Amino acid sequence: MSDHTRWKGEPRGRAEAEPRQETRGGERPRRRCELLVSEIFRSVQGEGRHVGVPSVFLRLARCNLSCRWCDTPYTWDFERFDFEREVRRRPLDEVADELLDAGVAHVVITGGEPLLQQRELEGLLEELDRRRAEAGRARLFVEVETNGTVPPTEALLRRVDHFNVSPKLENSGEPASRRLRPRALEILRETGRADLKLVVGEADIEEADALIESLGWPRERVLFMPEATDRETLRARGPLISAAALRRGVRYTSRLHIELFGGRRGT
Ligand code: SF4
Repeated sequence: MSDHTRWKGEPRGRAEAEPRQETRGGERPRRRCELLVSEIFRSVQGEGRHVGVPSVFLRLARCNLSCRWCDTPYTWDFERFDFEREVRRRPLDEVADELLDAGVAHVVITGGEPLLQQRELEGLLEELDRRRAEAGRARLFVEVETNGTVPPTEALLRRVDHFNVSPKLENSGEPASRRLRPRALEILRETGRADLKLVVGEADIEEADALIESLGWPRERVLFMPEATDRETLRARGPLISAAALRRGVRYTSRLHIELFGGRRGT
């Protein structure tokens, strides 16, 4: 866990109780058997290359950034949202029950920043695999959405099928030193199973293009996604951003959950 991590407005004592995260070459801390969960729900994947796939979403609490356009501030901004109402400390086996009960084969782990709880996620994924094997069923497809600031553990890298990596641009309001972590991004890029998903407005295209080049990310694995938290903005921006994606040789993704449901929670 990075030294700049903060838990905005969270009641005192929560962060101190957390173990440090393992990183490459680091010591493996003791694994807790609970996750800090914001919400679990069934929907279709709304972003990225798996748009439309029936999925169960596990949204974890906390984030180490505070983007000004964040569409899930209730997962981390506990000056505006009540931690006790928004966050549940849930045992791994209970979370596994709920994910399996959803009856779909695709899990999207999101946040917040889910890699802040990656040691616990390892335990959850092991438990899911164990139960599916016992039932004679194929293991679930696991997709993780991350801001790319936390180096993933080896165990997590082995198990996750696909990463959506969204390093933030200047439009987030975060300084580059906090939002861009080259080593974490390099590890993710090297998996060959990670898409770079950049949230852009019209003014951000040059910056996004420069970032793709500096990271050496293959353009066939890059997506531009419009910065939008409501249907009107998405409709206005979509054509411009998709045209920019075409010019820059990258993919485009809309935000299907905003188109369909207006970005309501649990969709
Ligand atoms: S990294 Fe994601 S969850 Fe965290 S503040 Fe930014 S947009 Fe929100």
